[in-house]
Amino acid sequence: MLASSRPANRPQVKPTITGSNGQPRPTGAPPTAPSRPANRPNVKATVKPGGASSPTPQARPVPRPIPRPAPPQTGPRRMAQELISASGKRTIRELNMQGQRVLLRVDFNVPLSDGKIVDDSRIRAAVPTIKALLDGGASVVIMSHLGRPDGRVVDGLRLRPAAERLTQLIRVNVPTTGDALGVGTDDAVRRLRPGELLLLENVRFHAGEERNDPAFAERLASYGDIFVNDAFGAAHRAHASTVGVAAYLPSYVGLLMEQEVEALSNLLEKPARPFAAIVGGGKVSGKVAVLEALIKKVDLLILGGGVANTFLVASGRSVGKSLYESKMVDDARRILKLAQDRGVRVLLPVDGVVAKEVTRGTEFKVVSTDKLPASWHMVDLGPASITAIREALAPIKTILWNGPLGVFEIPSFAVATRELAKVAAEKADAGATVVVGGGDSIAALRQLGVAEKMTHLSTGGGASLEFLEGRDLPGLAVVPTAGSPYETLPIIYVSPVKPGGKAAAKRAPAKPKPIIKPSALDDEDDESDTLA
Ligand code: ADP
Ligand code: MG
Repeated sequence: MLASSRPANRPQVKPTITGSNGQPRPTGAPPTAPSRPANRPNVKATVKPGGASSPTPQARPVPRPIPRPAPPQTGPRRMAQELISASGKRTIRELNMQGQRVLLRVDFNVPLSDGKIVDDSRIRAAVPTIKALLDGGASVVIMSHLGRPDGRVVDGLRLRPAAERLTQLIRVNVPTTGDALGVGTDDAVRRLRPGELLLLENVRFHAGEERNDPAFAERLASYGDIFVNDAFGAAHRAHASTVGVAAYLPSYVGLLMEQEVEALSNLLEKPARPFAAIVGGGKVSGKVAVLEALIKKVDLLILGGGVANTFLVASGRSVGKSLYESKMVDDARRILKLAQDRGVRVLLPVDGVVAKEVTRGTEFKVVSTDKLPASWHMVDLGPASITAIREALAPIKTILWNGPLGVFEIPSFAVATRELAKVAAEKADAGATVVVGGGDSIAALRQLGVAEKMTHLSTGGGASLEFLEGRDLPGLAVVPTAGSPYETLPIIYVSPVKPGGKAAAKRAPAKPKPIIKPSALDDEDDESDTLA
């Protein structure tokens, strides 16, 4: 891929400066180029007393030397790397993992209800990387977060259900540790043999995780020879287990991360045209930036859900008691103007389902969006809008869909979302590229049994949106470019979380949802938790 065709967030070769020996060396390394850059502590030497410091000889082979030799800049080797590493990042395909202890970050942040996993998509998505590592002869120490325990132990957010599900999926026993760190964990890690794995307890039980605390990161890093980040859904977070550990270990991306980046990059760089984005969901606030970015890429923008309500207000209509964001009306107007200037067609709902209350069993009716009654809530798109969407999508070759078109958790108000899911499945069957992101949208597809028809289901909520906005994802940025002999600079990202600051703010009012049950992925990964 040509560098010039990369969007802003596509990985670039890290800046380097030349050392006294005339060889390039990582920025920040001392002039006397050492065999290991100064910012790369020898992990074994830095393990604290009581840590996983006394490996059994057969289980702890010597880590690969760093830096690695630079690959030739031209010729078949270079081309092969370009081909195998679509993300542009160093992937586990480049890794000789035999006998290595791999510290693997995955995103097992799955929705739970009464301790049961409601949707295991994210666990399934991590399986290819886990299998590749085990089959390659590595031992694997897996890290993940689950929910928002805010640095405290919350029994309902333990990872045991995820370990049980993974055990069923890979048919290898996946033990969990009682704590992400500690003497028991040190012991369990030390006993791991090639082909074995274990899952560390929820890393967010420690406050150091979200703060990207270097001491916490270093301690986690002591559990591996190599760091592999496969947690696309958490890649927009600069936390200890996604970013901090990369300062201590040679870092790679996993197969899921690679696949996600490839699918989303293809959308931005070379979509088959015409290209349509469908944006629904509750709120505009977390989606303004992505809408702005998408307007520059798409030929058609279809709006639904609470998002459409704000745009209806921006185009001069009143929406009664419907969910809309008054503070976002100006932004919506600006986006509409941008679309007009660029000749992008915007499809707003022409009719909607309005309900007396946003609850099951309430009274509802279909009305034109020009005459939305003052004391009703618009909760779904009406039949004329659905027909218009179907017609508008007929010539479309690439679809990006994020956010349900109505309050789909209530079956009577899930009609438009279901119809769109059907159309999307038909389009995918007919050869169109259909990429769906967002936990609730994917949940809707699963309810209908058409999820597997889609070209790509993104496991990242907030991460997908930020990627599509063109922002750097810290968890991706810390992994060196494919073929790079350089390692990550230490702690280049500092989490903006301050004690009592963002975390406290995040606990503040839940979004106004009259909804019955969390039906999908934790909104943690959606707009409400986007980095400022
Ligand atoms: P995703 O998880 O797919 O990214 P979002 O989290 O952005 O989607 O939005 C999903 C939420 O939006 C759902 O809880 C749904 O009930 C809500 N929603 C959709 N349409 C409306 C509407 N018209 N009024 C209120 N809430 C809505
Ligand atoms: Mg959501």
